[in-house]
Amino acid sequence: MLNITGIPALQDNYIWLLQHEHHAVVVDPGEAAPVLDYLQAHSLQLDAILCTHRHHDHIDGIEELRGVYNVPVHGRRHPKNPHITHDLREGDRLRIEELDLEFDIIEVPGHLDDHIAFIAPQTLFCGDVMFGGGCGKNFEGTLTQLHLSLQRLAALPTDTLVYCAHEYTSYNLPFALACEPTNPDIQQRITETKDLRVANQPTVPFTIALEKSTNPFIRCTSPELIQTLQNRGLVDTSELAIFTALREWRDRF
Ligand SMILES: [Zn+2]
Repeated sequence: MLNITGIPALQDNYIWLLQHEHHAVVVDPGEAAPVLDYLQAHSLQLDAILCTHRHHDHIDGIEELRGVYNVPVHGRRHPKNPHITHDLREGDRLRIEELDLEFDIIEVPGHLDDHIAFIAPQTLFCGDVMFGGGCGKNFEGTLTQLHLSLQRLAALPTDTLVYCAHEYTSYNLPFALACEPTNPDIQQRITETKDLRVANQPTVPFTIALEKSTNPFIRCTSPELIQTLQNRGLVDTSELAIFTALREWRDRF
């Protein structure tokens, strides 16, 4: 039985810890201390580190963790990420023996060039590409790439649980509602998200199904969303033009 726990870190990051018996693997440890504390408190042994991309809030804990546990770091090699010991590329399979778990690896550029996602049955670790009701910023690569990356994640089975790296849902939903003011799923998610956050509960993971009904960045064919953007002056209603307009509006929202 695999347990997945979100260890809160830094301002609003989650470091995901996967546990089977006394074995553990962490995803994107942006700091070491909360991971070390958790491992010690639960008598766990760290077996591997997974890395979705090289932003500091995802990798800054790796060196210290490896000083304690000399474990492999699986991710996509990049000149600016010195931590990766095992390079992963599109189409690779990663087997974690200690967890009896296998991941399919896909490359999902558009936030950073080296961004990958780890996919196991009903489980997705997508770093900063998809967030609750939103998506990552386009720091490297093109919006075409980011759009395609999101499309690929959205095409996963709808019951897939999405473990993204930030608690951003409550920041994203007001924008989603501005895009589709009468979408009842967005209205309901805003209420549920508010209740969770008041109770200090995470809004992550969430399902692909929920994203498909509420996340504007994978709803570029929604008539209400298109109408909203047309009302704001958009003429080209191709999917990429819609996506581009959304990302630009969101950056100023
Ligand atoms: Zn990032």
